[in-house]
Order: sequence, then structure tokens, then C-alpha cells
Amino acid sequence: MKMKLHTQIVLALILGAVFGSIFHIDQNKLSINANSEEVIITDWSTLAFTKKDSVIKTYGTKDQLGIIKYFSSLKTKKAAEDIVIKIKYPSGQEQIIDKVKEISKVKTIGVLLKPVGDTFIRLLTMIAVPLVLASLIVGAASLSDLKHIAKIGGKTIGFYALTAVIAISIGLFFANVIQPGKFMPEESKQRLLETFQEDAQSRIDQNVSMNLVDFLVNIVPKNPFKAIADGDFLQIVFFAILIGIFLSQIKTEKSKTVIDFFDGLGNALIMLVEKIMYLAPYAVFTLISATVAEFGFSILQTLLLYSVTVIAGLTVLTFAEYPLLLKIFTKVPVYKFFKLQRQVIAVAFSTSSSAATLPVTMDICEKKLGVPNRIASFVLPLGTTINMDGTALYQAVAAMFIAQVYGFDLNLTQQLTIVLTAALAAVGTAPVPGIGLIMLIIVLKSVGVPEEGIALIIGVDRILDMCRTVPNVIADSLACVVIASSEGELRELSNE
Ligand code: ASP
Repeated sequence: MKMKLHTQIVLALILGAVFGSIFHIDQNKLSINANSEEVIITDWSTLAFTKKDSVIKTYGTKDQLGIIKYFSSLKTKKAAEDIVIKIKYPSGQEQIIDKVKEISKVKTIGVLLKPVGDTFIRLLTMIAVPLVLASLIVGAASLSDLKHIAKIGGKTIGFYALTAVIAISIGLFFANVIQPGKFMPEESKQRLLETFQEDAQSRIDQNVSMNLVDFLVNIVPKNPFKAIADGDFLQIVFFAILIGIFLSQIKTEKSKTVIDFFDGLGNALIMLVEKIMYLAPYAVFTLISATVAEFGFSILQTLLLYSVTVIAGLTVLTFAEYPLLLKIFTKVPVYKFFKLQRQVIAVAFSTSSSAATLPVTMDICEKKLGVPNRIASFVLPLGTTINMDGTALYQAVAAMFIAQVYGFDLNLTQQLTIVLTAALAAVGTAPVPGIGLIMLIIVLKSVGVPEEGIALIIGVDRILDMCRTVPNVIADSLACVVIASSEGELRELSNE
């Protein structure tokens, strides 16, 4: 008996997690490249960086990441050349290594298969930009007139604003009740700040800021081809909607040719997605396995309360808010809706990218959830770009957490500022992995919390990114169903 694709994917997810934990990267093992030779050290008790016989820094058994990051920070400052590493073992034995070029983790089979997953993400991402362009042009052109476009657009944006504000409020509620930052020991705080200082700085250096006027002005592309080449989703959306609107206005043979062109392109891309999805079980397996194998669970322990707060918020968002909205606005059975979302959820979770998931969401919305193409092709690309409930919730919790660790008590006005800036920051977040963390800087700045504080949470960002991307994409499907239903255009659900 042949297993259904979504069952294969779910199975791959579970097996990937098991495989990754069996072949996990040993936290007490390092590969040191010295004198062009690889030395593997394992089970040390202390590792010290020394220069001219004086010790600069000493690390213990749990500091694999700290050691790697510290050495790479030295390398960028070119201070690594005269460093001598002295390693002590529990037996009392000492080992000295000089002329070190590189220090890295020792990879296992759990991470070596990841290129399969990376190829899958690239294939889906390759489709995302042309699909947003083609489907929005066709979507906007097929919404008979300007009034209709304004109505659907207004409903979409209104629905997204509503879900975002509720999402952020859920996040703030959990952050206030659990207060994860109040329980962080000073020593863990210092260790995290030190370990991830460089990573945090490289994100801060990107200098994101949120000036509402600039933000709006920047939505207009100076050159749409550059926007496409750079994958700037907001600019592409703006351009595509305008072109779609005016194609519908000129209504000539010529506009038909252009619309048919993009329609054909969109159809071909969706067909390609269905073929790429055959790779999904293998890709999901390798991606999850690599994440689990590589993940430093000691960091998860340190940031457990924070991670639990974010995940609790995301769970309520996904399994309470969304079902409630589905019930209020549509007649679609909640169980059925979620059942049909399995592939979407698995792809979002393993790729951490709404953009990479978009082609799959589109396929499922049209073929399984009964949303007509003209609504799906308008609402989904727009939603993928501007609607990030999971990210907004995460940003609210993260801002509160960092404030709590630094001992700031954010009052009601400041928390309302978080609602506003997190909603906007999430709109500005590109639908690709890790950008939510960079946009968090805007939220921190708005309430005067030190932005270097992102160093505290970088260590668990990947896992939380996977989790927040799931509601990000489910909300898009939900909006699609809600809007199609409000227009009386929702067809029968697939009875899979
Ligand atoms: N990875 C998220 C997404 O693609 C964005 C983020 O929060 O970093 O939806």
C-alpha cells in the first residue's frame, strides 16, 4: 500500500527528529584545524586561550559554542595568529595546540544530509517570487473592477490587522503572567550576552529602523525588476497589484495576452510545486534531523522559560484564536481545516519560510480548501508578505523578556507601543528565515530596551522561527477561507 504524501511528510518529521537526536553533534567534541591538520579533541575539562603564556579566556565543558564564537571573533580581528590553546583533561593531562586556523563542531551524519533539504528550500523559494508576481497580477486583474479590488483588499488587510493585534495581545499576556525574564540568573545572562555578542552586532549593524513615512515610501519600487531580483516582496506586491488593476481597466486583446501569459506562468509554477513536493519527505527528514543534531540543548535549558512562553502563545494563537475566527466567519469545520493544512504546516515548520511555503499553501487553498483562484491568488501573496501573526507574537514576548532580564518594568503605554510597533515590524518582516529577529530591534528601540539584548535569545531563534512560521502561514489560509466565504465563493472542501 502506498502511503499518502502528507503521511509520509509527517513520518519524515518524526523520524528526522529521532535520527537527529541519535546522531547529534557531541557538545564536548571539537575539530581544531592547526598547521593544516585536523585535531579532534573530546571530553576536555577546560580549554584556555592563551597568548604569550598568559591566559585570556577559559571555557568549561558546556561551552562549545562559546569557544567557536570566541575564536571566530578573534579571527576577524586578526588576533588569532599568536593564540595558543591549552586543553586540560579530567585525568590531569594537558594538550597544547598552536597555529590554529579554524575551530568547528564535529559534523555527524545527522547534519551531513542537509543539502537535500537545502535544495528543496531553494526550489520552493525559486518559485515564490515569480508566483507572487504572476498570481497577484492575474488575481488583481480578475477582480472585475476597482471597487471589488478595494473591497477584497480592505477585507484582507482588516482581517490581518485584527489577527495581528490579537496575536500580540496573547503574547503580552503570557509574557506578563509567566515573566520569563525575571528568572534568568545573572551568570546565564552574562554567558549568553558574551557568546552571541558578535551575532547580535551583525544584526544591529543592518540598521533597521521604522519610520512610518519612509516605510510607506519604500513600498514603491524605483525599479520593479530590481525588486524582483532582490526578492523584495512588499515592492513586488505593490507593483503586481497596480499592473493587475490597470490590465483590468484597459480590457483589450492586448491585456488578455498579458493576463494569459501570467496565468500560464502561474499554472506552470503550481504544477512544478506539486512535483517538488515529492521531495518533501526526504527534505523534511534531513532538515529536521540537522536542526535537532546541531541544536545545543543546553541553550534550550537556559532559555527554557522564554521558549515555553513563546510556544504557549503560539499554541493559543493557532489552536484557539484561529479556530474561533474560523467558526465565527465561516462554516468550515475546524478539524477539516487543520487536517487539510498538514502539508503546509510541515513545510513551514521545516523550512522556517513563509515564502518557500507559499506555493504549497496556494496549491492546497485552491485544490483542497475550495478557495477560487482569483481570491487565493490575491489574498495569499499579500498575506505571505504582510501577515505574520506568529512573528508579531514572538516579537512581543521577546521584547518583554529582554526588558525583564535588563530589569525594565514596561508600563501599559509602553506595552501598547509594543502592540503597534510589533504589528508594523511584522509587516516589514520578509517572509524568510530569521528576519523576525532583526525586525525585533525596531520594537526594542521603540520602548528603549537595549538592542544588544537580542544576543540573549539568538541561541534558540532557529527553533522558535520554525514554530512562529506555522501560524504565519496558517493565518494566510484562514484569511483566504474567511474572505472567500464572506464573498459567497467558497466551494466544497476536498473530502480527503
Ligand atoms: N521565518 C518567518 C517567516 O518566514 C519570518 C520570521 O519571523 O523570521 O514567516
